[in-house]
Amino acid sequence: MPRTPAVARYRGRFAPSPSGPLHLGSIVAALGSYLQARVNGGEWLLRIENIDPPRELPGAADAIQRELVRLGLEWDGEVCFQAQRVAAYRAALAQLEAAGLVYACVCSRRDAGLGPYPGTCRGRARAPSAPASLRLRVGPAPVTIQDRLQGGYSQILAQACGDFVVWRADNWPAYHLAVVVDDAWAGVTEIVRGADLLDSSPRQRYLQQCLGLPAPRYCHLPLVLDLDGSKLSKLALAAPVAGNSASMVLAQALRFLGHPPPTDALGAAPSALLAWAISAWSLAQVPLQSRRPEG
Ligand code: GLU
Repeated sequence: MPRTPAVARYRGRFAPSPSGPLHLGSIVAALGSYLQARVNGGEWLLRIENIDPPRELPGAADAIQRELVRLGLEWDGEVCFQAQRVAAYRAALAQLEAAGLVYACVCSRRDAGLGPYPGTCRGRARAPSAPASLRLRVGPAPVTIQDRLQGGYSQILAQACGDFVVWRADNWPAYHLAVVVDDAWAGVTEIVRGADLLDSSPRQRYLQQCLGLPAPRYCHLPLVLDLDGSKLSKLALAAPVAGNSASMVLAQALRFLGHPPPTDALGAAPSALLAWAISAWSLAQVPLQSRRPEG
C-alpha cells in the first residue's frame, strides 16, 4: 500500500548508497534537499539504498545516519532500507513483465558494448539457462523532464542507453527500478539530488510512465568536483567530512549552494545555522555550475 496521503504535501528525500561515509558532495545534496523540504513546509525522508552488496561498506549506513544527526539534518519518520523492500520491487517487475515490456539478457558488459544496448537479446525465443539480467524495452519517443534548476532535459532512450536493465543478473533490482518504486511509495513530490543523476532522470520518468506512477518534480544540484575535475565519490574514497566541525561543514556546503552565511552566524550551532539557512534559502541563488569548493 502506498504511504501517499490524499492531498500531496511536499515530501523530499535524501537517498545515499552506503558505499562509504558522506563527503562534501553528499552533504550538499542532503542539505539542498533538506532546505527545499523545510522551506516548503514539507517532510524530509531518509532512504538507505543498500541493494548493491558488493559496493556496500560495512558500517557506512550507520555512519551516514550519525553524520546527518551531527549536522542537525534530522529526517522525518523511519529510515527506509531498500534491502527490506525487495518484494515491492518484484511486484513492479511483475507489472512490467505482464505488459510484455521486459526480456532476459545474457550479454556480458563486453557484449553489450559501450554505446546504447543494441538489443541483442530482444528476440530470444527461450528463457536462458544462465543467470540473466532483465531489460526494459524502450521506444523511439523522447522522454523529457523539466528540471527546476537545469531546465528541460530530454533523451531518446533508444539512442541514449537502449533497453536498460531493471533486474540484475545477481538477482537484485536495478537502481532505476528501486528508486522509482520507493519515491512513489513514499509520496515524494520533489527529488533534489546531484546533477550526476540528471541523465538517469529520463529513464526514471519512463519507468514511472510504464508503471502508472505519479511524476515527481526534479531539481539537480551542482556537483562538488575534486582537484582533477571529477565528481567526489564515496567509492573513490573522497575525504569524509566527519573530521571537521559540524558548523564548518554546513557553512562550506551553504557557500557552495550560493548561500554564504553571515559572519556572525559562522560560529553558531548547527541548529542556528540551519534556521538561518531556512530563512535565506532560494533556489534562484543556487549556482548551476559544478565546481571545486571555495574552501
Ligand atoms: N543512491 C544514489 C547515490 O548515493 C542516489 C539516488 C537518488 O538520489 O536518486 O548516489
